[in-house]
Amino acid sequence: MTANADAVQKKVLAEILRRNAETEYLQRYNLCGATDRATFKAKIPMVTYEDLQPEIQRIANGDRSPILSAYPISEFLTSSGTSAGERKLMPTIKEELDRRQLLYSLLTPVMNLYVPGLDKGKALYFYFVKSETRTPGGLLARPVLTSYYKSEHFKSRPYDPYNVITSPTPAILCSDSFQSMYVQMLCGLLHRLQVLRVGAVFASGLLRAIRFLQLHWEELARDIAAGSLSSKITDPSVRDPVADVLKPDTELAEFIRAECSTGEWAGIVTRMWPNTKYLDVIVTGAMAQYIPTLKYYSGGLPMACTMYASSECYFGLNLRPMCKPSEVSYTIMPNMAYFEFLPLAGGACRGEELVDLAHVEVGKEYELVITTYAGLYRYRVGDILRVTGFHNAAPQFRFVRRKNVLLSIESDKTDEAELQKAVERASELLEPCNATVVEYTSHASTKTIPGHYVIYWELLVKDSTGEGRMPSGEVMERCCLAMEEALNSVYRQSRVADGSIGPLEIRVVKGGTFEELMDYAISRGASINQYKVPRCVNFPPILDLLDSRVVSTHSSPTLPTWRPHRAT
Ligand code: AMP
Repeated sequence: MTANADAVQKKVLAEILRRNAETEYLQRYNLCGATDRATFKAKIPMVTYEDLQPEIQRIANGDRSPILSAYPISEFLTSSGTSAGERKLMPTIKEELDRRQLLYSLLTPVMNLYVPGLDKGKALYFYFVKSETRTPGGLLARPVLTSYYKSEHFKSRPYDPYNVITSPTPAILCSDSFQSMYVQMLCGLLHRLQVLRVGAVFASGLLRAIRFLQLHWEELARDIAAGSLSSKITDPSVRDPVADVLKPDTELAEFIRAECSTGEWAGIVTRMWPNTKYLDVIVTGAMAQYIPTLKYYSGGLPMACTMYASSECYFGLNLRPMCKPSEVSYTIMPNMAYFEFLPLAGGACRGEELVDLAHVEVGKEYELVITTYAGLYRYRVGDILRVTGFHNAAPQFRFVRRKNVLLSIESDKTDEAELQKAVERASELLEPCNATVVEYTSHASTKTIPGHYVIYWELLVKDSTGEGRMPSGEVMERCCLAMEEALNSVYRQSRVADGSIGPLEIRVVKGGTFEELMDYAISRGASINQYKVPRCVNFPPILDLLDSRVVSTHSSPTLPTWRPHRAT
């Protein structure tokens, strides 16, 4: 498939257009049954979610006519991306599950090339479902992973020695996130010596599991010593499978108590699960900031980022899963959808022809545009990718960022990647204090005149002796300035030459604040699997929550450097 990328893509497009020829959408653009690229490119416009909202609303309201897809819409997948503050609803068709399954089925053969013996043990993966809603027309709306875990593909998967997971399926399917996590952690502990890999979908999910262990190890150890499950676990579907494996084991209970009672959490993953070969978590894109924290908890285990996917479509996989996180490239699988690429020049999309998958150029950045079997045509996903090379004739991409502007006070536009870089740069100053930034978010505060960037930091002080090692006010001020120095020149020009942006402010929040933020998002309908910390917050209740947890505030003491460009 990768050798024939272009031919496969041509076939995929023809298939999508042929089967959907009678849809209202393709008829509207007078495709008249054409299935070739030239006609498609000439007649079908590139669109965003907002453009499709009227069609999506009709489907949600119960219109069953072939609007976007000739095949019946089986459900809506709720993306973590939002539109006008609401989660995006992606219509999907039943057979898309098979396509997703196909991509999942490639992950193990690829991993086997690099890590032998995965059939000799188990995987401790923390997976969660989220409760579902129905649209006015009665279609289910739920996150893509919930849809997958609840499908027969997952529930009735055949035994595969390479994919034995410690979590019983009912625990994954339990919609009470506490009970689900408790049982998954308990089973992980019971099988601790067989566990060969530990993971979650995104890095944030794995850190949440570690946090859960920190908070609940006493209870877990008590259950293991007694051989009986805590009365907090009330869901019978979860209790029954655990009863089969939970036998009194005082030795294991003592081990857990000895390891967890010291308050020393460095390397906890490898202490609890000593045969772990790698962490299976996505740490690319917005998740990159978790890398130091995961290194700390795992004693530097490799982190495998295996795949790149979204609610709209599963895109591809990392063919070198054991490479460093900074070197991860994803190979887009040409059979998943029809892919086009909008060239980016100087940060802006050029309105020229979209480029086909096989014709992208190494080193260039593009915005991903997809045409799917489920009925999205030339749809802008919003992800920016850089071509790093080719696997056969299929290009490989670094995930650069999700396209959006995070912070803006004036003409400045700071995106997620810039903010991430600035936090990384500033947090280097915390190293002598043995502290790291475990979570951060930002807000463009316009309460003051001029407005300024406010960055909320949650710190992890690695030494259990606590307060003495918190960075001093002077160090924190230097962090503020270091962030400003790392931001783009438009920002610094506004600060220095125009005075239109005030000094950047860091507000340090109490430990656990970002977990509260996640709980809040989940209580409002976010999914644990797909939850990503918002890198910028504007919603007043969330700002109030953050502000009520502030322990200290610090501002940039001087101006950053900025010089006008020399016209040479
Ligand atoms: P959702 O629609 O909620 O499933 O989110 C999909 C989005 O998550 C993608 O469009 C990307 O922006 C991001 N994403 C998914 N997989 C990865 C990955 N491997 N690395 C970085 N970002 C990813």
